[in-house]
Amino acid sequence: MSDLSPYASRLARTLPELQDRVARAAERSGRSAVDVRIVAVSKGHPLAAVRAALEAGISDLGENRVGEFTDKAAGLGDGVTVRWHFIGHIQSRKTGPVAQAADLVHSVDRLKLARRLSRDAELAGRVLPVLVQVNTSGEDSKGGFVPAEAEDAWAGLLQLPGLDVRGLMTMAPFTPDEAVLRSTFRRLRELNERLGTSPAYGGTELSMGMSNDFEIAVEEGSTLIRVGTALFGERT
Ligand SMILES: *Cc1c(COP(=O)(O)O)cnc(C)c1O
Repeated sequence: MSDLSPYASRLARTLPELQDRVARAAERSGRSAVDVRIVAVSKGHPLAAVRAALEAGISDLGENRVGEFTDKAAGLGDGVTVRWHFIGHIQSRKTGPVAQAADLVHSVDRLKLARRLSRDAELAGRVLPVLVQVNTSGEDSKGGFVPAEAEDAWAGLLQLPGLDVRGLMTMAPFTPDEAVLRSTFRRLRELNERLGTSPAYGGTELSMGMSNDFEIAVEEGSTLIRVGTALFGERT
């Protein structure tokens, strides 16, 4: 077709390439590519990018700002099947729209936020699926519970009636150092295994891996990769 939009023609190239790289990384580690879901991170790109992604067969989309998320969700309108992943820091006073409309929140990074999201989800009459963000890189600049804090907070997080804790999320440092990336992801998987010994918790989702490091993340057990640049190009 000659009249593809710029996003559609880009995705026609980048999506099969990404799927292929995911499949090969899964194979290297004895996993199946069907166990790795691609979350297309549309932040910083217009609604046209979201529409092109849906047309290309993507059903999971990620946003990291509350206003941009609600604008895009409203812009798509009803009758469009999409799973919205909220992946960014949430200010405590902006929990309402996320609790109402997100399909999975990856970035529960403190107990106060968890309580607010739980309350707002209950008010909206739903149970909100969430992941707990953990800082397994040790970098000061990264958000999330430090691992020991997450373990301390765990029982309290599981008790919140408006939340369904499905797993963990982490962000790796921006580095080409494979050993550092690998250990950041491995720590998340091992933490989830430790938390899994608590009978009330059966979360299996590990959200880890972005454009620069998703292959290592998949090799280390990622079930959700959050990919923006490699699909949509650079953000402006
Ligand atoms: C922006 C963002 C991504 C995607 O980053 P890319 O490098 O463009 O793939 C993934 N996760 C989070 C939390 C983000 O904010």
